[in-house]
Amino acid sequence: MNLTSLDKTLIAEAWTSRDLYANLEALCDFGSRFAGTPSEAQARDFIAEKFRAYGLSDVRLDPFDYLGWWRGKCALNVVAPRAQTLDAISLVYSPSTPGGGLRAPIVDVGMGTEKEYARKKDSLKGKIVLCSSANPEDGRIPHRREKYGWAVDAGAIGFIYTRHLPGGLPETGSLRPGRLGEIPAVAVSYETGAALKRLAQKGETIVTLDVQNDSRPTTASHVVGEVRGQTDELIVVGAHYDGHDISQGAGDDATGTCLILELARIFAPLKGQLRRTIRLMAFACEEMGVLGSTEYVKQHRGEMKQIALMINLDGAVGGGRKGFTTSGLDDVEALLKKIAQETGYALKLSEKVVTASDNFPFFMEGVPAITMFAKENDRAMGRGFGHTAMDTLDKVNERDLKECAMVAARVLLPLAASADSIGRHRAPDEIKQILIDQDLEEALRAQGKWHFA
Ligand SMILES: [Zn+2]
Repeated sequence: MNLTSLDKTLIAEAWTSRDLYANLEALCDFGSRFAGTPSEAQARDFIAEKFRAYGLSDVRLDPFDYLGWWRGKCALNVVAPRAQTLDAISLVYSPSTPGGGLRAPIVDVGMGTEKEYARKKDSLKGKIVLCSSANPEDGRIPHRREKYGWAVDAGAIGFIYTRHLPGGLPETGSLRPGRLGEIPAVAVSYETGAALKRLAQKGETIVTLDVQNDSRPTTASHVVGEVRGQTDELIVVGAHYDGHDISQGAGDDATGTCLILELARIFAPLKGQLRRTIRLMAFACEEMGVLGSTEYVKQHRGEMKQIALMINLDGAVGGGRKGFTTSGLDDVEALLKKIAQETGYALKLSEKVVTASDNFPFFMEGVPAITMFAKENDRAMGRGFGHTAMDTLDKVNERDLKECAMVAARVLLPLAASADSIGRHRAPDEIKQILIDQDLEEALRAQGKWHFA
């Protein structure tokens, strides 16, 4: 087998095919693919059909049970100093308000960093927290779920999440992984948040919140297919196919899903030729707090030893230099540097552990797990249009998409072909140490995700 000529074939396939963009269009046209909606089921079946048509082996759905959530009524009103009706939407897994709704003063916690919460700690009990999606200029970036967790810990009774970028767009997202949050939470646009902030600065501002959402047990499925290698050793490549119910979820994460489809298409003809088996996975329910992949790992603990590497393509498409987060794993980093040198593509590498996506449950089991990225790290932008109604197809550049597919394929090829180890599986103590070194202990504790003694 000549790797150089295969490499060229993969590049040619990625650059010349129209399938990649056509699949992206199809996924966006289904709708949001939010967990528990008809468009989720349509996308799931479409992916399975494509996997089969492209020639993957053992194409299957991998089902799991979880707590579904559907948004209903959401009313946010200012009652003092002056009556005003505001636009708001529930955050995912917001519980309903008790009969008659909530009525309380708001307290502004700014961007909701740990420091800001500590400063306001004694003034939050019984109040409704107003918290921005903005990121601090330096230091660690707290996740929305942390900001919410701190509000709960401080005894707040409601949470208003205001977007930090203008445009009239509330930014959605989940509050807890796979379970209802403790207190009702809504999202408002930058403009609505700014008006509330201004009122709160002038004096006591009382709001009412009436939120009714629906929640009950249901089922979702991952879609799985394989390019069989000569051994049972696995490289799992995954991206989540679900989006948020207010949007097409084009960038997050129809793009990642169509990269998985593209890898299926261009690697399927290599069946039996590569040493490792490539398992391609479209994960369900990532937007429910990384719920789907967490369930997958729980249900398939026995196969974790077989996985040489997990590559996550969530949010992998962007206009910057393509690269990977190496999760503080020095052996994986060294190997990626070697691949960068051999392919002549200057991969951008970051040591960071991504905690809020599908690589994380694998990483926590000690499996070497990395995430591809291609966006410039822009703290001021945060998610950009991600998690808003404007995360739509028109924001995706086809050339970026193709370059990401090409880079993913060129990295995957030598990893799948080689007999050498990719990286050591880590013991729980080593995983714990990497998380501590990256200052992630408090972040994970606030989200109820710190499972070490
Ligand atoms: Zn995502």
